Amino acid sequence: MKNTPISMEELHQLRSKYAQERDRRTRADGARQYLPASGEFGYYAKDPYTPRAEREPKTDQVEALVIGAGFGGLLSAGFLRGEGLDSIRLMDEAGDVGGTWYWNRYPGIHCDIESYVYMPLLEETGYIPTRRYAPGEEIRQHAMRIAHHYGLYDDFVPHTRATSLEWDENALEWVVDTDRGDHFRARFVITSSGTLTQPKLPGIPGIETFRGHTFHTSRWDYAYTGGTADGELTGLADKRVAVVGTGATGLQVVPHLAESARELFVFQRTPSTVDVRDNRDTDPEWAESLKPGWQQERMDNFLRVLSGAEVDEVLVQDGWTATTTLQRHILSGSVDDSLSDDDREIRDELDDAAAMNRLRARVDEVVHDRATAEALKPWYRYMCKRPGFSDHYLQAFNRPSVHLIDTADHQGITAMTDTSVVVGDETYEVDCIIFATGFETGVSGVVSGALAVAGRGGQQLLHAWAQGPRTLHGFFTHGFPNLFQIGAIHNANSVNFVHILQEQARHISSIISRAKAEGALWIEPSAEAEEEWVATVQETARDVSDFQARCTPSYYNAEGTQAITGFTYSPGPVAFHQLLDEWRGGDMSDVLVHHLGDRPSREAAFSGATSRILHDSQPRRSSLVPRVS
Ligand code: NDP
Repeated sequence: MKNTPISMEELHQLRSKYAQERDRRTRADGARQYLPASGEFGYYAKDPYTPRAEREPKTDQVEALVIGAGFGGLLSAGFLRGEGLDSIRLMDEAGDVGGTWYWNRYPGIHCDIESYVYMPLLEETGYIPTRRYAPGEEIRQHAMRIAHHYGLYDDFVPHTRATSLEWDENALEWVVDTDRGDHFRARFVITSSGTLTQPKLPGIPGIETFRGHTFHTSRWDYAYTGGTADGELTGLADKRVAVVGTGATGLQVVPHLAESARELFVFQRTPSTVDVRDNRDTDPEWAESLKPGWQQERMDNFLRVLSGAEVDEVLVQDGWTATTTLQRHILSGSVDDSLSDDDREIRDELDDAAAMNRLRARVDEVVHDRATAEALKPWYRYMCKRPGFSDHYLQAFNRPSVHLIDTADHQGITAMTDTSVVVGDETYEVDCIIFATGFETGVSGVVSGALAVAGRGGQQLLHAWAQGPRTLHGFFTHGFPNLFQIGAIHNANSVNFVHILQEQARHISSIISRAKAEGALWIEPSAEAEEEWVATVQETARDVSDFQARCTPSYYNAEGTQAITGFTYSPGPVAFHQLLDEWRGGDMSDVLVHHLGDRPSREAAFSGATSRILHDSQPRRSSLVPRVS
């Protein structure tokens, strides 16, 4: 089905329909409507997959600590190993590596980014994914493959949460404390603790009273449902099941629940867009034909297309590469500057409307019941919510045992009792409630304060960031030596987030390696370099507040309460990676590197006295010299 262009008059009608639908869903309590899966609700966040093993607290010293064993942490630790570091400790709250793919094992889980560009280090590890869009378990196994490949299990501490980092100015090391009683030292620390990690629950009145079975999709209870991630959930054959949430997770989980449950009630507040998925097995002949360097080339090509950069050929043809200009309102990348801002905005809005009309028509085509089809139609612009893809989700509503319960008029589920879910005047008796309600934002890593960080002079990181994050390139902060962050602040993003993580990991590991080669004991950005980068991010930021204000609520716009802007480098990942590449090729003079034997006095360190990396063949004993910027 192709997009059909629409007129300006139709666009005006659509705008008012979108505004009505946004208003219908916007709640005064915004992000406060959710409950964290902790305290009374801590059960929802427990690890159902790996028993926690007792161990002695660590009190030793390592060269590098990597916090977070998802792809960001694995790639960082792996590249550090590749740079010759022996002593690397990898830590995670989970029972094994994999991050998001460790926790999310729900039936139907797949990655909807093409596996040949999403799964990192395929050539390095000699692996070819079985399918165009790989199942979650295959991706999790691949994370484990990377850990084995780089020997990262040698010092992996699972089920451990770092609780504080404190810079020891005398030893020039971080002192690390954890919730397992560890108290050890690390020369370098990299945090890569994810962006969407803590399950959240809707704050529905009475949620605590439900006496049936209940869990969150990121902690799937196969002991109750039976079956595997491929379905066959035999334990649900005699059960009335409720699933709450129709985001990217809901889309993947509903088809299997629909197949297995006696009755399924899908509680929807805002429908997702559901485009064609078109998954298929990897063609062995194609895999055979791949030449060395193919994966980086494919990843770069995908990133360029999504970022609006030129390519000779679009190597990945899918729902993401077909909608690149529509993504620009949320994701960074270059915009078409042959048009004025106003003309470009109108053109994009018309394209957006045509794409959304096609997706709404797809619902009519697939879903037989008219009222159900109407309720499944998304009324907002394409990037107001995370786009969805499935060839089985809409089809599930054609089963007589599957009921769509639209809650939009009530801004969500009204109440829960010990045996039921209530929406308005209707009560639905169920045996089990599964929450596909997503994750808290801004709660992971150093940003949330969950990991207290005290840098030079005992300065708290969040205190240093009181007026907003301060970094050079998003990775490190003045006053917090040898501490690097992987994540989404002050750098560029894209839908293939693992590619973004890979570039970040490469960058950080090469800085650490360079510092070590230079005999540096610590490294941090100068205050001026940091200042300049913060200003660059702010000056180049695209104003998306109008777009976000017109959107239905979601975590993209803080549930309709504010525009989330100014945190990423708007020119996009291609420009950003080039900038990093050039920076690495330079003398890194905007980074303070203190050399062995140059240990400055406390005062000197505070006042920012610096030395530069030396590029000549002299012995590395320079005295502190003023930084040349
Ligand atoms: P989301 O936050 O995207 O969705 C949560 C769902 O719960 C929404 O449909 C929301 O409705 C609904 N909800 C929340 N509160 C209530 C309530 N009180 N009553 C009824 N419904 C409610 O979480 P997901 O887990 O689906 O996805 C999170 C992210 O994970 C995605 O954005 C994506 O980045 C990633 N993901 C990626 C996948 C991939 O293949 N790469 C697959 C799955 C997830 P409403 O929309 O109205 O708020």
